[in-house]
Amino acid sequence: MSLRIKPAAERALRQGHPWVFEESILKQSHLGGTGDLAVIYDRDKNNFLAVGLYDPLSPIRVKVLQARQPRKINRQFFIDRLEAAQEKRNPLISQGTTGYRLAYGESDGFPALVLDRYGETLVLKLYTTAWIAHLRELVAAMQEALEFDALVLRLSRALQSDRLNVASLYGLRDGQQLIGNAGESAQFVESGLLFATDVRRGHKTGFFFDQRENRQRVRELAAGRRVLDVFSYTGGFAVYALAGGARSVLALDVSQPALDALRRNVASNGYEQTRVETLRADAFAGLRALGEARRKFGLVVVDPPAFANRRANMGDAVLAYRRLVELALPLLAEDGILVMSSCSSRIGLDPFKELITRSAAVAGHELEIFASSTHGLDHPIGFPEAAYLKALFCRLGS
Ligand code: SAH
Repeated sequence: MSLRIKPAAERALRQGHPWVFEESILKQSHLGGTGDLAVIYDRDKNNFLAVGLYDPLSPIRVKVLQARQPRKINRQFFIDRLEAAQEKRNPLISQGTTGYRLAYGESDGFPALVLDRYGETLVLKLYTTAWIAHLRELVAAMQEALEFDALVLRLSRALQSDRLNVASLYGLRDGQQLIGNAGESAQFVESGLLFATDVRRGHKTGFFFDQRENRQRVRELAAGRRVLDVFSYTGGFAVYALAGGARSVLALDVSQPALDALRRNVASNGYEQTRVETLRADAFAGLRALGEARRKFGLVVVDPPAFANRRANMGDAVLAYRRLVELALPLLAEDGILVMSSCSSRIGLDPFKELITRSAAVAGHELEIFASSTHGLDHPIGFPEAAYLKALFCRLGS
């Protein structure tokens, strides 16, 4: 199908933005189906602008696969994209890392899709039904371009909803094995540390690779400190802290299976369980209880789930971050370090810095941010909306 779009949308495409919104479409050759290839021509000269996946169920109506130069969208196209993505990640492999994001959506030319590697297991997560029509070619391309033993399919929450009926329409389920057998847990190495995760049922695709560099910084700061890992999940930060010589780690999460997995990750790296305490609780209640018990920590990591996914949640998100700062500050030892992270794409780095320092000020503390960072090289930021993660490393001012 072919499309004509508004001037501002044409400009955005020319600048490399990968989305065409529903309201930008002026003319459409015919009613498109999910996953049809939509070719966009400019209004003046009828030149090719871009080709992408038509997505009638989403306000992001066309998700661009290729812009500027026309190309056939076929197996070879996907192979080239996968090889380019793999090449970008090669520096990680030399750092002793076998678990990483192999393709990060639009920024790697695969809109609304991520592909993660867990050692020999690949996990493909789809965020739109528009990919389903191309799944066969994509998987064939993966088999040619990449080495792996097992491939697991994960579906976004929207794709799992009954409304979309992906299971009965296409026979696809969240956690389905497309190739090989991933087993109960997939093992991988991150920065020389061993982890195992449940790629069929775990959060996202099983692990949060986006925090690798922030964990590394925690490892460098942890020596001799008592560490509190809030929203610990399976212990990414906790294990790095132990590796960095933390005196002890207290991991706080609401999920018992996550804390059990954390203990296993501690054990597989050879650290004594006596250095680790786990607390299954709601983070807000757990932090309050630790405060009442007058516990003190030299390093507190707070890595909550995205509070603000939609604009409507912004107010709640701001309150939640403010409350977390307020609860975490009294737990800091004298030279304590607070690491505050946010994966809400709606809150940018500068507003987040301001929110955290102001929250501390309201609670009567001066917080100095001595470092901040975003995602690593396996989460390239190809366009502004691709940036979501930030972590602030703060210490108490005198
Ligand atoms: N820091 C982790 C990732 C955190 S993911 C890492 O580096 O891997 C967010 C975690 O927050 C999940 O494990 C989830 O179980 C937990 N969680 C969500 N809401 C919570 C709450 N109210 N209290 C405590 N934990 C919560």
